[in-house]
Order: sequence, then structure tokens, then C-alpha cells
Amino acid sequence: MDKKETERTISVAIDGPSGSGKSTLSRAAAKELSLLYVDTGAIYRTTALHTLRRGVSPGESAAVAALLPEIDIALSYDAGGMQRMCLNGEDVTELIRTQEVSMAASAVSAYPAVRAFLLEMQRELARRHSVIMDGRDIGTVVLPGADVKIFLTAGSEVRARRRWLELQERGTPRDWEQLLRETRERDEKDANRAESPLRPAEDSVVLDTSELNFSQSLKRIVEIIRERTGL
Ligand code: C5P
Repeated sequence: MDKKETERTISVAIDGPSGSGKSTLSRAAAKELSLLYVDTGAIYRTTALHTLRRGVSPGESAAVAALLPEIDIALSYDAGGMQRMCLNGEDVTELIRTQEVSMAASAVSAYPAVRAFLLEMQRELARRHSVIMDGRDIGTVVLPGADVKIFLTAGSEVRARRRWLELQERGTPRDWEQLLRETRERDEKDANRAESPLRPAEDSVVLDTSELNFSQSLKRIVEIIRERTGL
């Protein structure tokens, strides 16, 4: 899916809070429209994993920033089109999905040094490929010129419930009350940070999935993208 210099790529930015269904929906929409799916949360998670492994507290901005030069992150795609994450040559795709890494990613992603470090990598992917990129600031900061911007949202209880079910299915169940608290804490942190706070881009389409099931949400997203790109 590599594009030549002269060929125009299409970029779709999908932002929203955790549990809004962003990643599953973005992946499915990308498959349907033959676009490359880029999960940027996984890039922040990989950075957070390195921090934890080095015994640095994610709350210490200077210490986290000092670790950045030793981090090499690479993305690849397996035969099923699933994004795999490599950290300094090691496949960490599954290791970055724990709740501990979620919380650490939320902390380290607030630091300007971390965001700057990961920014160019994300833009380069969109220059080389037609993408659906999901995250928190794709439409506002990473790809402000994206052809389509969608802001996906849902009530915090609905989102925490989805995450609870996901962890349950993965065999790593969590206490409901605590998960709900952490979801709200993460929302609060992502929306109120000084650097790239989570908010809809002015030219985004806001889609609330609280009352929609998966296929209804997917249908709407694909429609929005088709309408705006002619795909
Ligand atoms: O989307 P996911 O839950 O995997 O992201 C993990 C954390 O990384 C989020 O809580 C958010 O703080 C951060 N993130 C971000 N910007 C992005 C993607 C994720 O700040 N583009």
C-alpha cells in the first residue's frame, strides 16, 4: 500500500476516549475500504511499557523524557492485517494491553517531549499510506488536514462496560467499580492536559455510539468516509 510521491493518499482521523469503540471500528472500516489501520494508542502504550520496564515512574516527566533516545518503535502488520508493535526489536503487541500499561500510557502521553517524539512517526505513516488513524489528537494535531475527521464518543459507563467485558473475555477480569473509576480518571486526564487535550476538531463529525451496536456504528462510519472521499 506504499504510495509514490505524486499519488495522493487519503487520511481519515478517528479520535475519541477509551472504550468509544475506536479501534475495533477503525480496523473494520479500514478493512472494508482497503485503507491501512494505524492504532496510535499502541505507540503510546509501547513507550509506557519501556518506562515501566526501566523502573521509571510514569509520573516523572524528566526521567521519562530521558528514556526516549533508547526507544525504537516499529509497526508491522500480520497476515490478518493486525497491527503488531515492536519495541527495540521485541514483539510487545500483547504485553501493552494490561491495565497497568493503560494507566502508564495515559500518564506519559501528557508530556510534550513524548508527543513530539512520536509525532513525526505518525505523520510519516500517513504520508506513505492511505490510512485510518485512531487516537486522541489525530484530527487536531497529527493530521489537521485529514480528509475526514470523526470524533467517536459514548457515555463513561457504556465505555467502562465494554472494557470490562473485553478484559473478562481475555481472561483478565477486573473489579467493575475500580474500572469505572479508572475510565473516568483517564478521561479526565486526557481531556484536561495542557498538551494535545482530547477534544473534537472543529471540522469533525461527532458520532455517539452509546445507543448503537457494532454494525450500526460501522455502517455510519463507512458512510461518512465514503461521502467525503468518494471511496
Ligand atoms: O487508545 P488507547 O487506550 O490504547 O491509548 C492509551 C493512552 O494513550 C490513552 O489513554 C491516551 O492517554 C494516550 N493516547 C494519546 N494520544 C493518542 C493515542 C493515545 O494521548 N493519539
